[in-house]
Parts: sequence; C-alpha cells; structure tokens
Amino acid sequence: MSFAQALDNLALRKSDVVRRFEQLIAPKSGAELESMAQTSRALTLQNFGRTMRLFAPLYLSNECINNCRYCGFSRDNPILRVTLSVEEVMAEARYLRDAGFRQILLVAGEHPKFVSGDYLAECVRALAPDFPSIAIEVGPMASSEYVPIIRAGAEGLVVYQETYQRSVYAELHTAGPKRDFNYRLDCPERAYSAGFRRLGIGALFGLWRWQDEASGRPGRACRLFVAALLASANHYQLAAAAARRGRIPAALFNKRSRTGATRLRSAH
Ligand code: SF4
Repeated sequence: MSFAQALDNLALRKSDVVRRFEQLIAPKSGAELESMAQTSRALTLQNFGRTMRLFAPLYLSNECINNCRYCGFSRDNPILRVTLSVEEVMAEARYLRDAGFRQILLVAGEHPKFVSGDYLAECVRALAPDFPSIAIEVGPMASSEYVPIIRAGAEGLVVYQETYQRSVYAELHTAGPKRDFNYRLDCPERAYSAGFRRLGIGALFGLWRWQDEASGRPGRACRLFVAALLASANHYQLAAAAARRGRIPAALFNKRSRTGATRLRSAH
C-alpha cells in the first residue's frame, strides 16, 4: 500500500496523542502560554542541548510549469523568469558561506527543462566542497532521477504537501503536474528509497484551517510516514519500540519487503 492510499484509509478516530495535541493548540491565556513556553524550553534543552540548526535557502530558478493560486511564480504570471547558471549559483553561495552558513537549501520552481536533474546535480557537485549539508526543494521526481543528485552530494529533500485536504488542494492547484495530489504525497517515499538521509514534509499553513492541518489527518499522516520509514529501513527495532510505547500504531508497519519498498499494512 502506498503512502497516499494509507492516508485515505486513516480512520477518523483520534488517538490520545492527537487529542492532547488539539488541547495544546487551542486558545490559551497569557499565563498558560508562559507555562507552555517554559515546558517547551526545558524539553528542548533536555533533548537537544543549547544547539541550533540554521540553514539558508538559495533560489536557483523561478521558472515553473504549474499554476498555484497562492504563488507568484505561477506559470501564467507575466514576470521576468531567471534561472541562475552554475557559476552564478556558486557566487551566491559564496556570500552564504562567508556569512557562516554550512547548510544550504536549493529551491526552484518546477520546470524539467530549466531545472533538470542534470542541472541540479551540477549545482550540488559545485557546492559540495563548501557545504557539508545540501538539501533540495524542487518539483517531485522519480526515485531514479534523485540518485545522481544524491551521488553529487545532496543529503536532504523538502517537499511540502501544501495542504492535506484533497478538495482544497484541487481548488488551489489549477494547472500543471502539481495537480496530482498522490504523486506529490508519495514523493518522500520515493526520495527515501533513492537514498536521501533527511526529509522535510508539511503543510503551508493558511491555505486551510491550520488547526485541522496540524492535528487532523496530516498530523497522523506524519506519524504514519515516520513509522513507515523506520519500518522500511534498518530501524525495525526502533519502530517496534515506538509502537510498544504507543507512539505509532502497532499494526502499521511491516518489515521491509523483498523489493525494498515500504509496506504499510493498515492504519489506526
Ligand atoms: S509549483 Fe511551486 S514555484 Fe511553481 S507555482 Fe506552485 S508553489 Fe510556485
């Protein structure tokens, strides 16, 4: 079962964790917010110490073949279109490196002609000596297309679903391949099987009721996805431990299949 199919089959019953999360994001008084902030700070220090992960986005191209009603890069907008050459990308990146950034996110609109896999691999290869951590945020691709980009030195991929509400998604994405909700939803799975070590997913808050995006199907979808990844990699023990603690549904995952594809058995 693919991730997209699993999302549709999620039961509407909310788990205790989701209900607790809904209470946390409900309107609060100033005193309650302060108390939550203190707890949050203590947990952050406990889990991560006094560290901070900073990255800088670098826009490669505003060419795009999609129309998204909330984005100025939409193909029907009559704006100046620019795609940086690899030399220009390196020049921009040098500013970031000199400012102390070592983690970089390469961002571009979706355009297979201007933002091709070869172009991305070339950019990544040129930046790899200066940036130990390179991620990309571009149009979704097939697993095989990601492989050369990873070999060139990319380790992370970011792909926001924008909204997990299918009807809202259809209304906002009016033209182009991005209209395919499922292809985008299954993108992290394809990226993971290609070899990306770090994945970023999520919703663009504001397109739909953010409370629903955070705690409804999307919240559960995120847990589902984490569980699927744990179960599909060499982390089966970790996934089993998380299931025992009730963090993820026990019946959710299966061991890695013979083909290496993630098997999602059922959802809660
Ligand atoms: S695909 Fe991305 S860059 Fe293109 S119009 Fe939509 S949001 Fe903008």
